[in-house]
Amino acid sequence: MENMYLGIDIGSVSINVIAIDEENEIIFKSYCRNSGEPVEIVKSVLEELQEKIKNKYKVNGVGVTGSGRQLIGYILGADVVKNEITAHATATIHYQPDVSTIFEIGGQDSKLIIVRDGIVTDFAMNTVCAAGTGSFLDHQAQRLGIEIEEFGKLALKAEKDVRIAGRCTVFAESDMISKQQYGFTKAEIIKGLSEALVRNYFNNLVRGKKIKPVYVFQGGVAANAGIKAALEKEVDDEVIIPGDYNVMGAIGIAMIARNHIHKNRIETNFKGFTVTKDSFNTDSFTCNGCPNMCEVIKVKANGKTIAMTGDRCNKWSNSVQNDDKMLGNTGA
Ligand code: SF4
Repeated sequence: MENMYLGIDIGSVSINVIAIDEENEIIFKSYCRNSGEPVEIVKSVLEELQEKIKNKYKVNGVGVTGSGRQLIGYILGADVVKNEITAHATATIHYQPDVSTIFEIGGQDSKLIIVRDGIVTDFAMNTVCAAGTGSFLDHQAQRLGIEIEEFGKLALKAEKDVRIAGRCTVFAESDMISKQQYGFTKAEIIKGLSEALVRNYFNNLVRGKKIKPVYVFQGGVAANAGIKAALEKEVDDEVIIPGDYNVMGAIGIAMIARNHIHKNRIETNFKGFTVTKDSFNTDSFTCNGCPNMCEVIKVKANGKTIAMTGDRCNKWSNSVQNDDKMLGNTGA
């Protein structure tokens, strides 16, 4: 059987699963909305993957990234658990080695990653302000009664420029209504909203940072032609969108897992596809051991506690047998 490496990105909006072979070629790709049950979604995608690969490939490494990475990492026995910046940058640098600036805009958060000579030198993340993420557009598309898929294309049809005050969603809404009353078309307003999102992104993330070409734009919002055009106008240069723009984090973490296994000449910790048959549940409690009062999260598999996390002093996580081995392999 040939080797494959799994990359799983657990985001708040989507859950992406990628499998690559030894040549970093993608042999499986899945993009699912995160409906709030990440464990069940990952289990069902792994079942689909197992069915697809049959006996042709075996899992030789697993990497997990995204905001829900710790829990899924524990459950699967991930070899590497790393933040999204590292994962995204790894994939982008692989496909576009001369990249200098990565714009990543997702449904609920956005990132700026600065790369010099193939190495991440700076980054910024926005997880708080909705006005610089895809949810800003989703919300306004709903208000205007336009399918989000049509939003970007419509923006390109605008004949005039109109500035929408988009510092926050509330201002944007009232400004949009008044611009409609002045007679601007939907296409022009959408173009104005796309430019407002890009301005917000620049105000929140780019600020004084020095950015330069080659620019790459990825994340779910990269499908929106209006935002691509607004970004190109802002930087006055071409912005490249990679083919797999919406799963770059999963691709990157799969590549990192592959490198980790090869470099350290180790075997994977992957617990096997039987995890899809296990039943998992999580609960939490507040530790009163000291004034930190940590919220400790407990993960159970088939009724047995397999991991605890969230304790700042590791008092609880160290109490779980076999946990040390796994924690030793996890990164920030
Ligand atoms: S887990 Fe540790 S740091 Fe957190 S409250 Fe308990 S004793 Fe304090």
